[in-house]
Amino acid sequence: MTDTDALLNGFRKFRENLYGKNPKQYRDLLSKGQSPHFAVVACADSRVDPAIAFQTEPGDIFAIRNIAALVPPYEDDGRHHGTSAALEYAVRILKVGHIIIIGHAHCGGITNMIHKQEGTESTDTFISTWTDLLKQARERALKAEPGLEGEALQTASERQAVLVSLDNLKAFPFVIDAVAAGTLSLHGWYLNIFEAMLEAFNPETGTFELLG
Ligand SMILES: [Zn+2]
Repeated sequence: MTDTDALLNGFRKFRENLYGKNPKQYRDLLSKGQSPHFAVVACADSRVDPAIAFQTEPGDIFAIRNIAALVPPYEDDGRHHGTSAALEYAVRILKVGHIIIIGHAHCGGITNMIHKQEGTESTDTFISTWTDLLKQARERALKAEPGLEGEALQTASERQAVLVSLDNLKAFPFVIDAVAAGTLSLHGWYLNIFEAMLEAFNPETGTFELLG
């Protein structure tokens, strides 16, 4: 058995069980095309798969995953912006009704950002440049609660990172237009998969509220 056999066996199970019981569901996804109602920006972390956490079906969510569930700043500079391209596709082509940014507990991307801000020299090529886009999250967390450190700083920065990404998202012209037209809503959520807890940011109270 090779390393990839587990995946191939998984595909065989999918083909027999999920697809086999309802092939029409999958063929309809082709004939009718995809029209997901939700786009999510989630972390690439292997433990926080939105399709599993939210028990969705194929075609339900347009998932954009990267390090730290990050929406970068809007930069119309002709360079290669993978996350921004996916957001544009979700809003302009698929016309999703909701974009949900899903930060998560024990995010390695946030740890990376904090370590660099605290002076650890980075040796990577791309990772720190990317997670630097969230350094404001640590600054905001410390401003709200000076003296935070360790796990408390990590957790507070993870929640603030969702808000930094939300702020960035609100500056994309096609997002501004769709929100103004009333066809798009933006959400910031915080997932702790290890405790099965989900929080949603309430812009009216300015706090994350635990889902009951
Ligand atoms: Zn993460």
